[in-house]
Amino acid sequence: MSQFAQGLPFNPISQHYKQLFGEKVYKIPVAVVETCPNREGLKGMETCLFCDVWGSAARSEAFDLELNQQIIKYKAHIKNKYKANLFLVYFQAYTNTFTKLQTLRNNFDVALVDPDIKGLVVGTRPDCLSAAVLDLWNEYHQKSFVGVEIGVQSFFNDHLEFMKRGHTREQSLKALNQISNKTAVDLGIHLMFGWPGETKQHMIETAQICNDLNITNIKLHNVHVLKNTGLEKLYNQNLFTPLEIDAYADLMQVFLEHLNPRIFVHRLSAYASRWEELIAPDWTKNKMGSHQYLIDHMNKNSSFQGLNWACQSGP
Ligand code: SF4
Repeated sequence: MSQFAQGLPFNPISQHYKQLFGEKVYKIPVAVVETCPNREGLKGMETCLFCDVWGSAARSEAFDLELNQQIIKYKAHIKNKYKANLFLVYFQAYTNTFTKLQTLRNNFDVALVDPDIKGLVVGTRPDCLSAAVLDLWNEYHQKSFVGVEIGVQSFFNDHLEFMKRGHTREQSLKALNQISNKTAVDLGIHLMFGWPGETKQHMIETAQICNDLNITNIKLHNVHVLKNTGLEKLYNQNLFTPLEIDAYADLMQVFLEHLNPRIFVHRLSAYASRWEELIAPDWTKNKMGSHQYLIDHMNKNSSFQGLNWACQSGP
């Protein structure tokens, strides 16, 4: 039996924010950076295989608006849709530490003008950090919530090489330990499941690594194929096939069963925010349907987050 909020078989991130802020908090995704080390070809890097031209931005039109305009526009939309009161500004698109420190500072200041904004969440890569960036996060942590989401994607170097990620498992672990040792930010990671040759054993090892990290949250993505990506070329040559929902659900379930229940989970899979860009798999289009399917899959198997973590951590 699950002991989580809303009867869910996993520990939802909404609970984390409720504990921190006393009520539900909604993220306003914004786009302020227009590139990343991969796209710039630094150190021979290439664009990640899965990444579309918008660098994972929730809304492509955001790039045409100033930060304060994005916040006003998207806050109004979320407030209206969810009757929301409290918000976090989520610096989502591309690599948000791949910019000048002063620009980061200015953006943080713009984001925190509105008293309904309770903090910042910064998305970045594990190899794009500096002592000055960590100091800046600590400085802003003194006056507001600061969350950091690191795109780890996988803890296996063969999978990282396949996706042309340009960093290693060792770099991810070093960065995560550095952040948790030197800052007080709320730390989370993004993981992608569905790489060639990925097995349940990979899921178990990934969960065990996560359990040993000083992170509070995880965001899960299934690998999906978007237009104009390296993955699309492989897909068209029959060199990559994305997982169907059952196969993905099996992997996700094993991962969550081995994950410490203290770690909050953002979502169970990826959703294509621009449907016209999605090549495959089709189930990624159906946000609510696939989310419910994954929950039903776990419930049907009497599965829940931490089921096997509890066995491992017992006497
Ligand atoms: S996933 Fe991130 S690091 Fe990779 S190419 Fe896209 S924006 Fe750059």
